[in-house]
Amino acid sequence: MTGFNRCPACGYQADAVMDVKTAQDYAPTPGDVGICFGCGSKQVIDKDLHLALLGYEEEKSMDVETQIVLDRIQQQWYATHQERNHTLPRDKP
Ligand SMILES: [Zn+2]
Repeated sequence: MTGFNRCPACGYQADAVMDVKTAQDYAPTPGDVGICFGCGSKQVIDKDLHLALLGYEEEKSMDVETQIVLDRIQQQWYATHQERNHTLPRDKP
C-alpha cells in the first residue's frame, strides 16, 4: 500500500483495509469510503489513493444504503470506544 495510510483528522496509521461485506483484505480504489480506526471519522479514498475526510455534500451524494452502512459503522465505533472509556484524539487539548 502506498499513499493512503494517514488519517487527515488524527494521524492514525492505517496499515490495512477490509471490505465490510466480505471481511477480506482488498486494494482500495478512489471513491471507497470507510471509518478511521483511530478517531471514527468518515473517510474517502481520493484520486491519488490518499485518505481524505468525507465531506457532507459528498456523503449525501452517495446511495442511501451506503450512507446507512457508514453511519452504523461509525455509531458502533463510538459505542465501542465509549465502553472502553477512550478519549477521542480530537478531544485532546
Ligand atoms: Zn482518524
